[in-house]
Amino acid sequence: MKTDSPHILCINPWIHDFAAFDFWAKPLGLLSIAAILREKRLQVSFIDCLDRFHPKESKKIKVFWDGRGPFRKTQIDLPQGLENYGKKFSRYGIKPQWFAADLKKMKKPDLIFITSLMTYWATGVKETIEMVKETYPDVPVILGGIYASLCYEHANKDTLADLVVKGPGEQQLKKIIKDFTGFEFEDSNLSGALDELPFPALDFQNKIAYAPILTSRGCPFSCEYCASSYLEPEIRRRSPENVFREIEHWHKNFNIQNFAFYDDALLVNSKLYAFPLFEKIIASKMDVWFHTPNALHIKEITKQAARLMFMAGFKTIRLGLETTDFSKNRNHDAKVMENDFYAAVENLKAAGFEKKQIGAYLLCGLPEQNLDEVEISMYLVKQTGIQPVLAYYTPIPHTPMWERAVKYSKLDLLEHPVFTNNTLFPCVNSEVDLKRISQLKNL
Ligand code: SF4
Repeated sequence: MKTDSPHILCINPWIHDFAAFDFWAKPLGLLSIAAILREKRLQVSFIDCLDRFHPKESKKIKVFWDGRGPFRKTQIDLPQGLENYGKKFSRYGIKPQWFAADLKKMKKPDLIFITSLMTYWATGVKETIEMVKETYPDVPVILGGIYASLCYEHANKDTLADLVVKGPGEQQLKKIIKDFTGFEFEDSNLSGALDELPFPALDFQNKIAYAPILTSRGCPFSCEYCASSYLEPEIRRRSPENVFREIEHWHKNFNIQNFAFYDDALLVNSKLYAFPLFEKIIASKMDVWFHTPNALHIKEITKQAARLMFMAGFKTIRLGLETTDFSKNRNHDAKVMENDFYAAVENLKAAGFEKKQIGAYLLCGLPEQNLDEVEISMYLVKQTGIQPVLAYYTPIPHTPMWERAVKYSKLDLLEHPVFTNNTLFPCVNSEVDLKRISQLKNL
């Protein structure tokens, strides 16, 4: 058994896309792995290819009041098969020469972990791994995260990763480290209980502009277009005390004011979880602000939930409405009923939220979707005074809707994940509908 502590490099890869913006997203899975390895006394380094605050950045860095901001972007060639698409395509994140310099100046790693997010950012992951292999050709690269889990075969075939890992990494970590470095550590806190894990190592960043928080993993619903239940088949929750300690940690020790909940089911079973957490935050009198980019379940926004969220400091509320077609024929999401939507909006307004703080996501671009439905939904949402927020459909492997999307799409979705990019509206096949979507955007 090797006892020297190995050096593990964790990397958040570039994004390749038509547009990208820092909506409070950090690679929490990778930073959780980094925190565990640090706790186990391994040497850990982190390079964030999406770092908006890289020390070499000479442009003025825009930071919005809520911590969000634009990534640096560099135009690159359109991916193969989309050469004539007619829109600009970019690499988002730090310059390649900064990345290369950062790789070279550190102590040579023994093992490299790279994460991945959106499936259609696959080419950004591939480029990141290629750059790493140019500097360290003999250091094994382990690729994990969402693209790796959902497009496992593609990631194996298309990238230079030495191992592609599916699903949550914590429970696989001990074996991977042992297999690739010979180093062994004690793993009794890695059984899957979330309260036993250290907080994600957000402090590895050059600057912490905000803290994304996960109070749970998984979702009790199973919407046809969503991969949550594939990625996290089991619902796991943290105790309110544990989540509160994390918020307090980032606020008191790192002066963080903005927090974004990235849960799939923040308000589900709220009497046991969310409410005690919000009550603790209110009692602490911490001056903190919360945002919910991942959408809240409308049914759960009772008067009490709305009041507690307002008092705890929620500033951005996003509701998972998807459509206002509440008819029985609607089969892609049965969790929201008409009355629940109107009641949720009323409860939020009565609690003190301003209309401009509340948005409702409406899904657009589903296979065979009638766009009249989207337009009617937009008007109905606007009538309540809140903002409709169009969410463009991305076909995702391993979701119930995937087969239908593949069959219906004008693009070969099985050829490469880049064709699932929602900017391409993969499941909107007629020019008339594409024009209509532009008009809806302008609405
Ligand atoms: S879309 Fe939201 S509610 Fe539906 S399964 Fe996914 S995470 Fe759950």
